[in-house]
Amino acid sequence: MAIFYEPGCGEVSTLGSGPELMIAFDNTYTSLPEKFYVRVKPEEVSQPQLFAFNEELARKLGLDLSSFSEEQRAALFTGQSLPEGASSLSLAYAGHQFGQFNPQLGDGRALLLGEVLAPDGKRYDIQLKGSGATPWSRGGDGKSWVGPVIREYILSEAMHHLGVPTTRALAAATTGDPVYRESPLPGGIFTRVASSHIRIGTFEFFAARRDIESLRRLADYSIDRHYPQCKQAENPYLAFLEEVGRKHAALVAKWMSLGFIHGVMNTDNMSISGETIDYGPCAFMDTFSNEKVFSSIDRGGRHAYGNQIRIAQWNLVQLANCLVPLVDPDSSRSVEKLQECIGPLDVYDEEWLRKMAAKFGIFEPRPEDAKIVQTFLSYLEQQRLDFTIEFRRLTDSIDAAYARDSLKDNEDKYQEYQNHGPKDFREMWLKRLEEQPQSLEQAAERMRRSNPVYIPRNHQVERAIQAGVAGDYSVFDRMNECLQAPFERRQDFAEFELAPEPEEEVRATFCGT
Ligand code: AMP
Ligand code: MG
Repeated sequence: MAIFYEPGCGEVSTLGSGPELMIAFDNTYTSLPEKFYVRVKPEEVSQPQLFAFNEELARKLGLDLSSFSEEQRAALFTGQSLPEGASSLSLAYAGHQFGQFNPQLGDGRALLLGEVLAPDGKRYDIQLKGSGATPWSRGGDGKSWVGPVIREYILSEAMHHLGVPTTRALAAATTGDPVYRESPLPGGIFTRVASSHIRIGTFEFFAARRDIESLRRLADYSIDRHYPQCKQAENPYLAFLEEVGRKHAALVAKWMSLGFIHGVMNTDNMSISGETIDYGPCAFMDTFSNEKVFSSIDRGGRHAYGNQIRIAQWNLVQLANCLVPLVDPDSSRSVEKLQECIGPLDVYDEEWLRKMAAKFGIFEPRPEDAKIVQTFLSYLEQQRLDFTIEFRRLTDSIDAAYARDSLKDNEDKYQEYQNHGPKDFREMWLKRLEEQPQSLEQAAERMRRSNPVYIPRNHQVERAIQAGVAGDYSVFDRMNECLQAPFERRQDFAEFELAPEPEEEVRATFCGT
């Protein structure tokens, strides 16, 4: 039986009928003490309407909404009707934002609807974002306009299809109500799916309050949920730190290989699970630059492209600080032990080289291959070239089949591909490819799978947002379709391959709210 809250009043009423309107929630966060969250009801909205629903993800989660009418789905994903078993929690967390500690952040505009156990055996959170004020809103309205909803939907799904660990997009809705920013904008609600919403900042929340008991509960819960193998370790908390470090190192390496800049790697935006979370001012680079920053509030370049692993490590130090009371009763011994476990740099170097080398068709990277990568990146930086396009051109340049089929009538283009990249780089690179046992065709295939044709480019995301604000979701739909297969070129998606014209270029991005 479905239970529908009547928003705005304390009563709970029952609407609809039969067990078919159920979601099999399997909530565990509610087993943690009440200080971990606040129970909040979503706010009432006047005209809930879905403009996107991710059928593929729903299937993966084992959610069967076939008996829900369109209205019921819209009501569900705007929090207007909560099925039985929904938890509706706003989670507590703290965080270091741009290096400054804030002991109390929390879900100011988000609600955890509940957890589901998917057919793949994994546990996922389903969360509404933009569903109204919570006790953590700190003066904010707890709402979102459709722009950030469209942005997070496109970007997080694109990241998934690019093979990056990430939270995902289940649904997107408009509310029918205005949200007031600099001007009134159409309100939206985003449904996010994540392995969990535990952040480094969740640990900091309890560490700052010297609440050791809660810290231990959180650490044990996190280990159970994400890293059960740590329970066998001599010290599970040390093993936990090491695992989180490994995940973050691999994640950042993956970002780097795609030209992705998170933009706000504050400790409240870094998930314990190692998924990319909180798509605020993040962006994919067009023109390559190590110092590239998009976020309008990142004036010092703290979260610049080339600085991301250093910030990840800084964040891990904050997590390590939280774990001090759990590791050893003697705090100086504890610090010593934890220090030994904050070592993502080695893992990072290895992961970075593996992922970057794959972009050049190299199967088993050697340390000296870093020179090939760096020479090409320096060339991109000096010539101000587009990261994604140039890597794909490099792919095309050894892709014999492509060259024969597509360029047989275009000798100039063929020559251009044959000479792609600076001469010293090309010699070094081609010699390396010849040395490996795999054929050039196999190398080309590896490159095709490592160098996307399509990324969610800022100027195109902006187009999708502008159309969406006017009620036209066709650009949004087309972008999502295109980005489901980012490594396969399709003639009808040629527009999404293009770098921005100078007047289209997005130079600054803003925190999504
Ligand atoms: P973010 O920059 O998105 O990571 O958010 C930082 C903090 O600000 C979190 O505690 C958010 O919940 C809160 N926040 C962001 N936008 C809003 C909003 N519109 N209303 C209330 N809180 C918000
Ligand atoms: Mg955040």
